[in-house]
Amino acid sequence: MEIINPMEAHDREFYEKHIRDWLPDHIIDAHNHAHLKKFYLGDALYKQNRGALWPLLAAEENSIENIEESFRNLFPDKKVTPLMFGKVSRAYDVQACTDYVIEECKRRDWPYLYVIRPQWSGEEVERRILASGAKGAKVYLNFSPMYIPSNEIRIFDFIPHHQLEVLNAHGWVLMLHIPRAGRLGDPVNIAEMIELNKRYPNVKTIIAHIGRAYCEEDVADAFERLEEAPGLIFEFSANCNQAVMEKMIRSVGSKRIIHGSDSPILRMRMGRTVENGEYVNLVRKGDYKGIELDPHMREIEGSEADNLTYFTYYQIHAFIQAGLKCGLAKADFADVFYNNAAKLLDIK
Ligand SMILES: [Zn+2]
Repeated sequence: MEIINPMEAHDREFYEKHIRDWLPDHIIDAHNHAHLKKFYLGDALYKQNRGALWPLLAAEENSIENIEESFRNLFPDKKVTPLMFGKVSRAYDVQACTDYVIEECKRRDWPYLYVIRPQWSGEEVERRILASGAKGAKVYLNFSPMYIPSNEIRIFDFIPHHQLEVLNAHGWVLMLHIPRAGRLGDPVNIAEMIELNKRYPNVKTIIAHIGRAYCEEDVADAFERLEEAPGLIFEFSANCNQAVMEKMIRSVGSKRIIHGSDSPILRMRMGRTVENGEYVNLVRKGDYKGIELDPHMREIEGSEADNLTYFTYYQIHAFIQAGLKCGLAKADFADVFYNNAAKLLDIK
């Protein structure tokens, strides 16, 4: 197994100084993708994907063993239970990823979600989830019909009503990465998130990455309007924006927020800044090949580069800082990093 971005002394210092003492001994990480190299179907299929490009650079392979190694190294004095799912890229054999995840998670008693396709009937979704023992479904905009332009994809294009009826009947989890350039503040997204929560109140809907609001501008008036959707759970993987997190905490409180890392990107040695309402990821020169393809990536050098640590550390640190500013106490952090997800996933 290849060790990705081995730990350096300053990484350990960052963890001990800024993170360790605020986290409970047992953590649930609610957002993890595993995949093996052999499931890759070829470069030609990449262009059929609709999400950001840079996450593809994180790891050529992210096996269950890679994930275990990351948790052991990055959180040496904690127990971490991940909620797992497979890859959601059209360039991978998605079903093989899902089957791999199910098999490995059963062995470890880890919770997992089934990656479903919008083309499936309600019965097919129900049959597959029941047979697999999954806690629910992971859906993704990549699987929307190809004739819909990326910017026009709506939530119900990739999690259609006939499937939501099934999830609702069983009270299953739905991990939802919302689409559209307007992100969390997009009026179409907001209307559909409210509709989803009203029509399917038993679905445990998790809004991944705080609805991709990586900059304050992406929030707009979303949290005020989403007061109409009190069942939504927010997960903050891939998000390092303290101001956005403060808005979230003040609006929804500490009981509807859960932690996720979006492994394999947790292990990227990468910081983030915001410029003109857009996020920019900062990496060491030469660490990631092909980053010129993505305007969200920038190489840096010198001491700033030397001091870069893991993306998941920045993300957790931002949340702790936001929480402290909003008056969260250690018990509230224990809710966000363990209790809320344990309840959602029925982990005893
Ligand atoms: Zn993800």
